[in-house]
Amino acid sequence: MSTERPLPRIDGSVRRVVVVGASLAGLRAAEALRDSGFDGRLTLVGEEPEFPYDRPPLSKQVLLGEAAAHDAGLPACRPVDAEWRLGVRAAGVDPLHRQVLLADGGRLPYDRLLIATGTRARPWPVAEEAALDGVLTLRTAQDAAGLAARLDAEPRRVLVIGAGFTGSEIASACRERGLDVTVVERGPAPLVGALGGVLGTFAAEVQRAHGVDLRCGVTVTALEGSGGRLSGARLSDGSRVTADVAVVCLGAVRNTEWLDGSGLAAGPRGVACDAGCRAFDMYGIVTDDVFVAGDVARFPHPLFGYQMLSLEHWGNAVAQAEVAAHNMVSPGPRRRPHLTVPAFWSAQFGLNIKSVGVPTYSDRVVIAQGSPEEGRMVAVYGYRGRVTAAVAVNRAKWLEHYLRMIETAAPFPPPPDAADRRGDPVPVPSDVPDPRLLSHGPTVALTGHHPDRHITVVRAD
Ligand SMILES: Cc1cc2nc3c(=O)[nH]c(=O)nc-3n(C[C@H](O)[C@H](O)[C@H](O)COP(=O)(O)OP(=O)(O)OC[C@H]3O[C@@H](n4cnc5c(N)ncnc54)[C@H](O)[C@@H]3O)c2cc1C
Repeated sequence: MSTERPLPRIDGSVRRVVVVGASLAGLRAAEALRDSGFDGRLTLVGEEPEFPYDRPPLSKQVLLGEAAAHDAGLPACRPVDAEWRLGVRAAGVDPLHRQVLLADGGRLPYDRLLIATGTRARPWPVAEEAALDGVLTLRTAQDAAGLAARLDAEPRRVLVIGAGFTGSEIASACRERGLDVTVVERGPAPLVGALGGVLGTFAAEVQRAHGVDLRCGVTVTALEGSGGRLSGARLSDGSRVTADVAVVCLGAVRNTEWLDGSGLAAGPRGVACDAGCRAFDMYGIVTDDVFVAGDVARFPHPLFGYQMLSLEHWGNAVAQAEVAAHNMVSPGPRRRPHLTVPAFWSAQFGLNIKSVGVPTYSDRVVIAQGSPEEGRMVAVYGYRGRVTAAVAVNRAKWLEHYLRMIETAAPFPPPPDAADRRGDPVPVPSDVPDPRLLSHGPTVALTGHHPDRHITVVRAD
């Protein structure tokens, strides 16, 4: 009979947990900590004054006037026994003394720290132009309330700069409200940064069919104003767009600046951590008391060549926060890896777009079911002969099937097993952006090395 004592479920030495970032990942981690039986001191620090709320409705129901921005509650949100420090920014971390430094001068000691500071909207790069009345971004409930009010005022034209998911959803809401909208996209098509060329071409056709004035392959070179108000924009092809509202949708900036000088591996692509959500220090040594979850994290995933992934996915923030919470208070051998297959959804122009896997981790794509002409299809992505992602357009029920293929690294192209498969479709290049290039577009960034060439990425500012 073994004389060894069983491993405790919870590491009793952890008495103080601080979570920085009081949004989806922070809240879910706090709930999971309490669910796990952690009964020590739990503090959440959040820069926004509000209790956590849900962001996806901000570019959908809120802009359509179906919900108020400040009513966008999180599903299953319940009271958590925690100390909430809202409206306060964390300004730094002292890892040696295990303290979070607050912008108001306070200090919060911790045994475990969770970094869940997410991202913010990338602002228009020219400050005087960004300050024009009518130039907006969309990330927070306050942003959404402001944009919804502008749309209520029926502007003559809305200019959307950038046709990623957020820009495309805003354009869709404008058209649904009957507003004229011009979308300017630097790439060859909308959504191309996240989904590649085939679905990008389809998205362009859909937008134009819905009356969007879509300009691809051009950039906005200047926003113009008169009397402090936006009047329009100049484009790189020499043309000019008149607009009273411009929404800057140039992607997200990771909230990592507050970690400057902390010695953690934090930078423009996020805070690097291992598959157990433990942060790396700047030398690549894993810490044992600082954890990361949500949009601010970049983490390795075995299904995608151990590339460091940065995701801006609701589902990832939830799943990663749960693993981080578990690991923060569990003894080493009880810790779990965060291996969830990434999943994302978007609603725009009457389409329900759902993705599993990492479409940007691909070299080829095939329309495995349906077709662009029908407006319903499943595009399956492959990398070096195995399935790495699938995107369903109005065809979500099939995604489970492809999820299993991704999880088991099934051969690409997938076998003809769907009733609505047309003939024997030929895979084509997926035309995803070169992952070595920093992009404004994708909501999934591969931030490690190039899948083909194993080149280390060094960011040049
Ligand atoms: C308009 C919009 C639509 C979206 N639609 C979808 C969708 O359809 N499907 C989908 O899968 N995902 C969608 N997303 C993405 C999804 O909302 C995010 O993945 C999710 O919010 C990430 O949660 P998070 O907690 O990691 O980060 P965030 O939600 O970004 O929260 C981070 C929090 O940390 C705070 N913070 C930052 N720095 C500090 C600091 N120094 N001190 C204290 N607090 C700080 C921030 O103020 C913020 O409240 C959408 C996002 C937006 C903005």
